[in-house]
Amino acid sequence: MTTRTITRRVRGMPTSDGAGVKLTRVIGQPTLDSLDPFLLLDEFGSDAATDYIAGFPDHPHRGFETVTYMLDGRMRHRDNHGNSGLLESGSVQWMTAGRGIVHSEMPEQEHGLMRGFQLWVNLAAKDKMSQPRYQDIAPDKIPAVEPAPGVKVRVVAGAVFGTRGPVDGIAIDPVYLDIALEPGAKLSVPLPEGHSAFAYVFEGDAVQVGAEVLGLRELGVLSKGDVVELAATADAKAARVLLVAGRPLNETVARYGPFVMNTPEQIVQAMQDYQAGRF
Ligand code: MN
Repeated sequence: MTTRTITRRVRGMPTSDGAGVKLTRVIGQPTLDSLDPFLLLDEFGSDAATDYIAGFPDHPHRGFETVTYMLDGRMRHRDNHGNSGLLESGSVQWMTAGRGIVHSEMPEQEHGLMRGFQLWVNLAAKDKMSQPRYQDIAPDKIPAVEPAPGVKVRVVAGAVFGTRGPVDGIAIDPVYLDIALEPGAKLSVPLPEGHSAFAYVFEGDAVQVGAEVLGLRELGVLSKGDVVELAATADAKAARVLLVAGRPLNETVARYGPFVMNTPEQIVQAMQDYQAGRF
């Protein structure tokens, strides 16, 4: 058995996107450009409507997947193929953009807390032009397990502790876990050995990962291995960690804004197809 350790620590960068939504970019910024197959991780969280109200009006995506995990608040999603859905607190949307969609993601609230994550997952060359697909998963469809005293795990994707998350049919075989630890609680989480993986602390003060401590809003890139040991120190606050893993693609990446392909020519093609209304 090989225990995973932290190989790199990253703090997010404050930025804004869409029509001016304030967020913290943790993956997809100069300090951590990507972590194959993950292209971007944004954390958003504010109870000031001015930080989020403008939302993300119509914009395209091609060649990858967007995963939106809502912790608090409500977001309305609509695309140019007639799909629409409401992402409410505790829900997840795994959207495979494939060959292309144009969509909007707009807050469906005018006040109160809006908080969550968006993760971008790359698609293999053979899947980049696939049919777009949505997995909209309601909060009560995400199983919560208690594998150890003081530990609660919401299993969004992957199979752990005898429970399988509801997201299915994703090529990189993802593990996506929201782990809550009471003070003093500890947990060993099995992860597929060759997967890229990261842990991100989003509540509490800190979480121990192996022999090291990961602070609040700090992302730890994990070494390869088949298990990661997490612990919340006894005198600290309860903590919450996002633990995500996926099989690396090991392919060349050509990236321009909302288009992620393998070659510059394919990016030009994506822009032409978008401008010509072929998404
Ligand atoms: Mn989008």
